[in-house]
Amino acid sequence: MLLKVENLSVSYGRIPALTGLDFHIDEGEIVSIIGANGAGKSTTLRAISRMVKVEPGSKMTFMDKDLLKYPPDKVVSQLGITHVPEGRGIFGNLTVKENLHLSAFARKDAAEVKKDISRVFDIFPRLKERYTQKSGTLSGGEQQMLAIGRAFISGRKIMLLDEPSMGLAPLLMQNVFKALKEINKEGAAILLVEQNARLALQFASRAYVLETGSLVMEGDSKKLLEDPEVKKAYLGG
Ligand code: ATP
Repeated sequence: MLLKVENLSVSYGRIPALTGLDFHIDEGEIVSIIGANGAGKSTTLRAISRMVKVEPGSKMTFMDKDLLKYPPDKVVSQLGITHVPEGRGIFGNLTVKENLHLSAFARKDAAEVKKDISRVFDIFPRLKERYTQKSGTLSGGEQQMLAIGRAFISGRKIMLLDEPSMGLAPLLMQNVFKALKEINKEGAAILLVEQNARLALQFASRAYVLETGSLVMEGDSKKLLEDPEVKKAYLGG
């Protein structure tokens, strides 16, 4: 098992956002979490990347290590966990090139980094054309590609993706998801959080349903796609 989360609870001030989540992700697996607005999907990713404080009694184990002992920067550099947040988390004042190189800051294997950057360009040729452009002036879709490219370089074990479909035209969205499948084939597990439940269930092999801070359903994502309750609540009937 790659990631094991037990009894995960998070509160913002006094307001609970997550209450006692249990879930896991295996090596190389694609798992989705679906749920309505405000259910706690982003918060779940923030807890794993250590961006929010968890409540006492929460437990997270990544490759047999206690994740709660790692601060956010070490989660990326030592464990290979990257988080692509909603809104993408790229540095707008830096060029595409600078953003990609920055994501390799913790890696010492310069030759491998170079190989990975050229792999990112194979997957997203558009980024190669825009190598010297300031990232803040890229289109929304191009910024999404850059954010995923950065995650590919820094997080080779697991990518935590928050709404990667947001703001993308259908064709571009398909390309981004195709690229994510390729990145996954190269070994990175993916935990995907999506409003677009149909897309999330088609993409993942397994999924969890989050409702107001609690997991209420889990299973094979193809089965969830056929589940009458899931259909009614998340797939538009
Ligand atoms: P969406 O699909 O709308 O992005 P989500 O499932 O990702 O929603 P979260 O963003 O995790 O939901 O939010 C879960 C709950 O925690 C919501 O009620 C939200 O208002 C609250 N919340 C999130 N961030 C904060 C914060 N920084 N301070 C206070 N409350 C917060």
